[in-house]
Amino acid sequence: MRLLLCTTLCAAAFFTTPAAGQIVDPRIEEILQDVSADRLHEYLTTLTGYETRHSLSFSDRPDFGVLPARQYIFETMRGFSDRLQVSFDCYEVEPQGRIPERAELCNVVATLPGRSERRVFVSGHYDTVARVEASDPAAGGSGGGFDWSRFDNPAPGANDDGSGTVLTMEVARVLSQSGIEFDATLVFVAFVAEEEGLVGASLMAAKAEREGWVIDAMFNNDIIGNSLGGNGILDSRTLRVFSEDPMDSPSRQLARFIRRQGTAYMPGHEIRLIAREDRFGRGGDHTAFNRRGFPGVRFSESRENYSRQHTAADTLGGVDFDYLARNTRVNAAGVATIAAAPAAPKVDGPRGPMLSRGETGYHADMSWQRSLGATAYRVVWREAWTPDWQHEVIVGNVDRMVLENISIDDYVFGVAAVGPDGHESVVSAYVRPPRARSDIREVGPGR
Ligand SMILES: [Zn+2]
Repeated sequence: MRLLLCTTLCAAAFFTTPAAGQIVDPRIEEILQDVSADRLHEYLTTLTGYETRHSLSFSDRPDFGVLPARQYIFETMRGFSDRLQVSFDCYEVEPQGRIPERAELCNVVATLPGRSERRVFVSGHYDTVARVEASDPAAGGSGGGFDWSRFDNPAPGANDDGSGTVLTMEVARVLSQSGIEFDATLVFVAFVAEEEGLVGASLMAAKAEREGWVIDAMFNNDIIGNSLGGNGILDSRTLRVFSEDPMDSPSRQLARFIRRQGTAYMPGHEIRLIAREDRFGRGGDHTAFNRRGFPGVRFSESRENYSRQHTAADTLGGVDFDYLARNTRVNAAGVATIAAAPAAPKVDGPRGPMLSRGETGYHADMSWQRSLGATAYRVVWREAWTPDWQHEVIVGNVDRMVLENISIDDYVFGVAAVGPDGHESVVSAYVRPPRARSDIREVGPGR
């Protein structure tokens, strides 16, 4: 084992700000240039043309409802590249909750195989729903609202979540046509029955857990194409990324990674990290994966227009395609980087995080398990009362690093793997394990 020692005195020569050590790969820049607002518009025009994509809007008509909609997503993705394996992921669902009758519900899945088993997901939900309006005779003079037995009211779902669906399709296109052989396997999913309670995503997440899939990340996109808030505020230059607690959860590391890559590849398009699983009282498909222990985040526009959501007014006119294209590029940059990089290093041993106070008792002594294909590591740290990494040092192909006289009590540490092309993984953080109740020794009074 090679040991790299660095005292705080060499900091000035060695440490850089986090953004400085980062590469911008011209091949990824080319991928981003390939993202087309016109294509996003074309996909979404077709999808909204089916009038509704309610998960149970089954019909024989070729121009109406969920069946031709999911077929269109399937066929379109299949046309992108021979390398893309497209399939329906179907489940027989019994009546429950918001699903009043038995139905076969299908996610649409396109897989771009990589060199390794680890998977990176990009997703949106293609299903839609609309409230019954108060003016509708079906509302019976009530104020209107959701009627889960009504499958056929107009629910174009251009922004919720046609936007996330076509974003996913376009990322699938540009990555599958890029000619790059990725390390990770990319999985592009248009989920069904999100509106009925994350049904399609929950069924797939359960399957992923049963079958032991290695999922490194999920980029879930839901309500991602509108730039004009219902309050009249226009914002086409920022987007939000929601990630679940705690502060150093794998999902939160993914969020930090997305902002780092997004900032490098899309300067001027600001990624606002929100330290929350989702918005107040609202949910999304990433949560179904989070609950099974998979890291995942939700991308959403910064300014929502609630009055259009879940109504017949969620039409093409409420989508800003240049904004949606920029958000698509942020996704593509993050996905391409994470998929091109080696797997994140493992920092936990049998007895917890491999972080100690070193020989003197006052150092930060970190070890990790090397990642296959990594040629260097990026060690990062920050004060424990700080949201994002403040310091970094790039070390060679080693599995240990000692920072002298930096207290492991006062800082959070992490390490990312860097591949030969300079692509870096998400950071693995050394997280202080929660104490079991039985470990806490009570101290009596008077001592
Ligand atoms: Zn949605």
